[in-house]
Amino acid sequence: MSSSNMSNKLDLTPAACPVCSTSVSAGFSVEGVGTFHQCGKCGFIFVPETKSEDANLYDEKFGSTNIHPTYRKTANGYMIKNEEKLKALLKRFQPWHKTGRILDVGCSAAFFMHLAQKNGWQADGVEIAPWAAEFSNKELGVRVFCGMLEQAAFPDNTFDVAFSSHVLEHIADPKTLLLEMKRVLRPGGLHVSVVPTQFVSPSWRLQKRFIGDPPPKHVSFFDKSSFTRLVEDVGLEVVSIEYNVELTRLYELTLDREAMKKRWQDKLAVAQQASPARPQRLPGWAKAFAKSGVNFVGNALGAGDELLCLAVKK
Ligand SMILES: [Zn+2]
Repeated sequence: MSSSNMSNKLDLTPAACPVCSTSVSAGFSVEGVGTFHQCGKCGFIFVPETKSEDANLYDEKFGSTNIHPTYRKTANGYMIKNEEKLKALLKRFQPWHKTGRILDVGCSAAFFMHLAQKNGWQADGVEIAPWAAEFSNKELGVRVFCGMLEQAAFPDNTFDVAFSSHVLEHIADPKTLLLEMKRVLRPGGLHVSVVPTQFVSPSWRLQKRFIGDPPPKHVSFFDKSSFTRLVEDVGLEVVSIEYNVELTRLYELTLDREAMKKRWQDKLAVAQQASPARPQRLPGWAKAFAKSGVNFVGNALGAGDELLCLAVKK
């Protein structure tokens, strides 16, 4: 991650768009980040032929130093974070609770599924990093299969809810994974995806700052339109799709290159030293109010840091 990246247009060896199969030859490079293909038909941005599903990329060092959305490392080990946000998300799944089975694909340390179990769900997880699967099974009591979803070989029509967060952007062929997630979902069941949207984020749009993991970790870059197309192509019906704008990213827009560099160094240092959580600057209600306003504007402008999609298996 650098503070501001130069972007140049490129002519590339043609590659098939993983979303709409159009042959793509135009793209761009981002200095210090990588080279990307962009589909002229559906807008999807991708990095072809990348071996992204490599467990070695996600060893425990990744878990303890990366800034993860559902847990953080403390002196007492890993702990859940954003619990209220995750509880609110679980509430949205409640109308689909029939058999009570929920699946988290790429669950990492399965704190979200642990929370789901406490709220009346019977949870399963799938995770390629052995440390995270073992931690989930032993420490959290969540049944997690170590490997790829296809290898877990769940029967057809098993789950009420199939969830994945910050996973599809790591996958070079997201359509195949979505089809498998759909297969294990019962008819009428709920598919839920959360994906980062680095190339429609305010940071990129306004300042050409690429925030988050570059290739080979992230290889698929969605926006609302390409993600809708992908989900509909596999036979899921979109219930809602919305951008989320991170307030912390908006704050960073005010920082210059040096201040930004220092901020990220500090964040990583906090993650590595297992320090206590930083105090909240804003009271919860003020943050929620600011957040709903910002998300309203973000969705109106087609900009956000991540996308949350709920879709139903027909
Ligand atoms: Zn396309």
